[in-house]
Amino acid sequence: MSRTKPDLSTLAPETRLVAAGRDYAEHGFVNPAVYHGSTVLFPSVEALNGRSQPYVYGRRGTPTSRAVEQAVALLEGGHDAKMAPSGLAAVSTALLAFLKAGDHLLMVDSVYQPVRQLSDGLLKGLGIETSYYDPLIGRGIAQLMRSNTRVVYTESPGSQTMEVQDIPAIAEAAHKAGAIVMIDNTWGAGHFFKAFAHGADVSVQAATKYLVGHSDAMMGTVTCNRETWPQFRGAYEQMGQFAGPDDMYLTLRGIHTLDVRLERHMKNATAVAEWMRGRPEVETVLYPALSNAPGHALWRRDFTGASGLFSVVLKPCSDRAAAAFLDNLSLFGMGYSWGGYESLAVPFKPHRSATQWTAQGHCIRFHIGLESPDDLKSDLEDGFRALQAAS
Ligand SMILES: *Cc1c(COP(=O)(O)O)cnc(C)c1O
Repeated sequence: MSRTKPDLSTLAPETRLVAAGRDYAEHGFVNPAVYHGSTVLFPSVEALNGRSQPYVYGRRGTPTSRAVEQAVALLEGGHDAKMAPSGLAAVSTALLAFLKAGDHLLMVDSVYQPVRQLSDGLLKGLGIETSYYDPLIGRGIAQLMRSNTRVVYTESPGSQTMEVQDIPAIAEAAHKAGAIVMIDNTWGAGHFFKAFAHGADVSVQAATKYLVGHSDAMMGTVTCNRETWPQFRGAYEQMGQFAGPDDMYLTLRGIHTLDVRLERHMKNATAVAEWMRGRPEVETVLYPALSNAPGHALWRRDFTGASGLFSVVLKPCSDRAAAAFLDNLSLFGMGYSWGGYESLAVPFKPHRSATQWTAQGHCIRFHIGLESPDDLKSDLEDGFRALQAAS
């Protein structure tokens, strides 16, 4: 007797995440094996010439990579997905797959800084022109479309300044002008924002953040709809992209608990962000889930939840006072990346070229982890006390 397999397409998102990738498990184990492999042996010349077996060479896919790719595609609601060795590698591979010399790229002004460097560096050198646009442009993007605009790149919300973009309006204008829409979907992790249901064609994530979820691996994902998949897949293979088996496995493992982790990140971040809003040292809290926060209306329309990342603009204070705040936190680590189980705080300066950042105060980005919000607030109180003392 063999037991029936669930039809995942009919099940709730959290159920899908639990079952995702299970098709590749063997011998009764719940999880698929981690295949370390380059050579795959063929039983005959006929099999070799016919390429009839599912696996032919390590870089071309293993049961481990297929399991996590399938899980990511299921999470995002896309056609299929590929893994890259970092989030930035996922972005660069996706952009290079759809752009060539003479093409025009529309890039959101609030984009993750290394993607700006890629656009102004490598892509420019290849003869691809980038222009930056206001993240809040919405359907106004239609005015910026040129006959050679191939890609409109979005990131929503921006991972430092948290602007929520009107993806359906941007997608409608882009498609009308013959361009595809790419989104950096890292903040919503593919769980709180369904990129394809909102008109995106390609969704990229730094899986380093919430999918891995434990600050112990680098990984990127590129998920495509049916139309963009063949072109992306061809470019991915020509560029020789792949990722390490242990890190792909850790990504799959993280996906199974994504729903429950994100729910707690949201609960804790909401509590801390609300509290921050009442602090006399704080000018603005940039967390779209808070009522009256910038982007709240679009967030409520398009997202089903909020992750643990938000930013704060302090009331103007000296550099010394802002540094005293950060140096006197003990539960909040100070460092880059986010999406792990632990809380982080990091200062940043927004980069802009198409718009202006007018806030005067210091900017700090917080990632709220799985600690007790009360412990986090008392840590922040220590920081604010030091800020006041240094003022
Ligand atoms: C971290 C990050 C990336 C890059 O991911 P890496 O894995 O660090 O290369 C891309 N986009 C956003 C929004 C990020 O936060």
